[in-house]
Amino acid sequence: MKSGEIKVEDTEANRQICMKYCGSCPTYKHNSLGKSEPGALFCARGKSCAPSVKEVNCYCPACEIFDKNNLAIGRFCDRD
Ligand code: SF4
Ligand code: SF4
Repeated sequence: MKSGEIKVEDTEANRQICMKYCGSCPTYKHNSLGKSEPGALFCARGKSCAPSVKEVNCYCPACEIFDKNNLAIGRFCDRD
C-alpha cells in the first residue's frame, strides 16, 4: 500500500472475507495463488510471491473490504 492510502488490517476476519472473492477469482485459480505467500488479502499483505502472475480477471471491486476502504483498481496480487 502506498502512503496516504487507508491500510487494510491483516486480520483473520478480513482474510476470510478476501477468500470469498480472491478464492473464486480466475486469476487466483489460474496462477494457484493459494500456493504462494501471502496466499490471500493481497491489499493488506502485498502482492503474491508467485514468480509470474497472469491476470485473468479481478473480483476485488465486488469485495466489501475494497468498498469500505475506498480501494482503487484491484489486482493487488500482482501490484504493489
Ligand atoms: S480487495 Fe481484493 S485482495 Fe483485498 S480483501 Fe478484497 S478480494 Fe482480497
Ligand atoms: S487480487 Fe484481484 S486479481 Fe488477484 S486474486 Fe484477488 S480478486 Fe483476483
